Amino acid sequence: MRVAKVIVDVPTNQTNHTFDYLIPEEMENLVQKGMRVSLPFGPRKVMGFVLDLVDHSDFDKLKPIEEVMDLTPVLTEELLHLGKWISEQTVSFYIQTFQAMLPQILKAKYKKEIESLTEYELPNELQKLFAGRAVIDYDEYIERNGDYNLLLKEVRNGHVQINYIVKSKETKKTKLFIAPNNETYLLEEALEDISNRAKKQKQIIDYFIQSPDPIEQKELLTDLKTTTATINQLVEKKLLKKIEKKVYRDPFQDNEFERTQPLPLNKQQQQAIEPIWQSIEENSNEVFLLHGVTGSGKTEVYLQAIEKVLNQGKEAIVLVPEIALTPQMVQRFKGRFGSEVAVLHSALSPGEKFDEWTKIHKKEVKVVVGARSAIFAPFENIGIIIIDEEHETSYKQDEQPRYHAREVAKKRGAYHNCPVILGSATPMLESYARAQKGVYHLLDMPERMNEATMPPVDIVDMRDELYAGNRTMFSRKLLDAIKERIDQNQQVVLFLNRRGYSTFVMCRECGDVMKCPNCDIALTFHKSSHQLKCHYCDYQIPMVKECDACGSKTIRYFGTGTQKVEEALKEHIPEASLIRMDVDTTRRKGSHKKLLDQFGNGKANILLGTQMIAKGLDFENVTLVGVLAVDAMLHLPDFRSAEKTFQLMTQVSGRAGRHRLPGEVIIQTYTPEHYSVQLASRYDYQRFFLQEMETRKSFHYPPYYYLTLITVSHPNQWKVQEVTKTICKLLFKYLSDQATILGPTPSPMVRINNRYRYQCMVKYKDEPNQREIIRKIQTHYYDDIQRHDLTIQVDFEPYSLM
Ligand code: ADP
Ligand code: ZN
Ligand code: ZN
Repeated sequence: MRVAKVIVDVPTNQTNHTFDYLIPEEMENLVQKGMRVSLPFGPRKVMGFVLDLVDHSDFDKLKPIEEVMDLTPVLTEELLHLGKWISEQTVSFYIQTFQAMLPQILKAKYKKEIESLTEYELPNELQKLFAGRAVIDYDEYIERNGDYNLLLKEVRNGHVQINYIVKSKETKKTKLFIAPNNETYLLEEALEDISNRAKKQKQIIDYFIQSPDPIEQKELLTDLKTTTATINQLVEKKLLKKIEKKVYRDPFQDNEFERTQPLPLNKQQQQAIEPIWQSIEENSNEVFLLHGVTGSGKTEVYLQAIEKVLNQGKEAIVLVPEIALTPQMVQRFKGRFGSEVAVLHSALSPGEKFDEWTKIHKKEVKVVVGARSAIFAPFENIGIIIIDEEHETSYKQDEQPRYHAREVAKKRGAYHNCPVILGSATPMLESYARAQKGVYHLLDMPERMNEATMPPVDIVDMRDELYAGNRTMFSRKLLDAIKERIDQNQQVVLFLNRRGYSTFVMCRECGDVMKCPNCDIALTFHKSSHQLKCHYCDYQIPMVKECDACGSKTIRYFGTGTQKVEEALKEHIPEASLIRMDVDTTRRKGSHKKLLDQFGNGKANILLGTQMIAKGLDFENVTLVGVLAVDAMLHLPDFRSAEKTFQLMTQVSGRAGRHRLPGEVIIQTYTPEHYSVQLASRYDYQRFFLQEMETRKSFHYPPYYYLTLITVSHPNQWKVQEVTKTICKLLFKYLSDQATILGPTPSPMVRINNRYRYQCMVKYKDEPNQREIIRKIQTHYYDDIQRHDLTIQVDFEPYSLM
């Protein structure tokens, strides 16, 4: 008896384990670990992943597997183990993790077809079923008792392939090919029979006698100056046939990638790459933290490290934050490694993503460059994993499974015995602290390439503007600087922090911000209750009327959108042309690239945008970067706000003066004395690190303590409060007395879609039982979760505290 242990697609606490299914005899050779199967589950038919194959079961009356959905495993053994580990670490369901590792298309059951890839070599049985067609329905094959084993064999031989049919139009990419329907001598006979008046027909047949390979119809039409009608006549006579061939959807097809050669490395690059090369040669698993200022040549180091890996016949994974995955970035990898590179990012359609994934799965490529989920690339011989801009929060998935790509990378690196490179100009405090302790191997690249220097940063005190009677959002200095650039035909990038969800309260006179005395977090203004609240603990006070620090009554809450800035700017500098980039203007696919191209081609003087313009952009003509209100980030209700501000300022500054023309950066703020603003303006990461570590230490934040955030939501506010209160009590009871439990408290976004949200935060050093306790809590609320619309979200080491 053969038994498959299967994780079924029923994501509940009760079904989060393997179920035994009988493998029918005819499927015995087919079923492998890591394949998807479809099975009966209660009254339903569901999908499942085969985790293991065994010879007996402790249960009797096993139900049989109904269908094998894959012909080759979609998850390797390594990925199966990895998936289990991630589920346990994040307290999520196994099925969620396995699905998160695969392209979306494979999550649903799609229609499949079988495509013949050869002309004459198919075994008789298959030929009969194909009956002259190039493509047949997979369901038809099964209905007509087509043999699984035979199909599998032919897939492995490369004679046929299985295509997943995606319904949406955009993803369907086929090309129409014309091919001879008979062998050449038959065509020659037919040529005799065609009337001499049908000259065009003769010409086409003659063409295929000379070269019998299929040719794209479009090409045939132009080459022979013929018409589709003529071709159709020959198809009707069964002399030619039409073949729909699937072509890979290549989102970067239009760009011709000029091949680049490795650059001779300078001294600091050489020093950084040596230990990486050594680790590659020795197959040793080591984590490197490459701390290099923007423009120091990190990417060239990545490229040459990858080159070494490819020479060993191994594969490379490169992760880049979603918004930095610009055509400019892709070009650098495609330029060096050409068609060895697959690109995965979320702007691709499901079909395009699937195509790229297929190239990796079939080992047709050796390098994958992608956003977060590319860490699951099904390579089996990985030689290096690189995470660029490792401090980026987008590497953490914000829904279950809430994994961090960095942790997954380290796990895969250990499995493959290969180096993992974390690169950044402003590493996460946690990472830098690990490097200081020697857990990571620190590599430093403090100098910019080509003797370029980081542009000088001017901090403008907006309080002075107010004293001088300027009540607008632009300082006089910034306005003058913009006008000057426009006069000189140079370009400007203006940066506005994304509109905050919550608003903080600041005195415009002295810049003082109302903070929680317990948590050192900016208090949030709640309009409805007219209160100021801390979102970590439960501290709250009525909205203040005057500033605590100076007594002034100019108390304001903050929050401005890009549109408002655009309007205001038009008033001040009517002659300026501006391109605005925010969620509204970049909603449509491709608009992001289009707007950047326009700016690159000099169609506008100013590029105004949110976070999305802070990274990776490299425009020669940009000589001024302005940040309108750095305070919006500095006072987010988030213990990382100072760190995020430092990172952002550094990143934005890196956009100016990257080339011939010197650059300048102007930062507007009401708190110019803040250490984050001061140190970022001097590019002093070291000092910032030391100072920020002090703060973290005194308020018990990472990297000194770990955090767990539990968010409860439900339509009824009373219910949410009750549940959160109980959870806090249970945690207090079962966790060690080393742990601090904060809450229950309303979440910063207390109500979303008519659901109330409350949270509880745990600060701890070491709580080995924590995950088990949380599982128990979830099981305790099983009924409420399944039937009464309650959700309990658990986020270990959270990045977003909203
Ligand atoms: P980073 O990734 O650290 O921001 P880049 O890799 O973008 O830095 O390098 C900045 C610029 O320097 C790029 O234009 C790159 O082509 C160039 N560059 C990098 N390494 C070298 C080198 N060894 N010799 C010459 N130019 C280089
Ligand atoms: Zn004040
Ligand atoms: Zn507090």
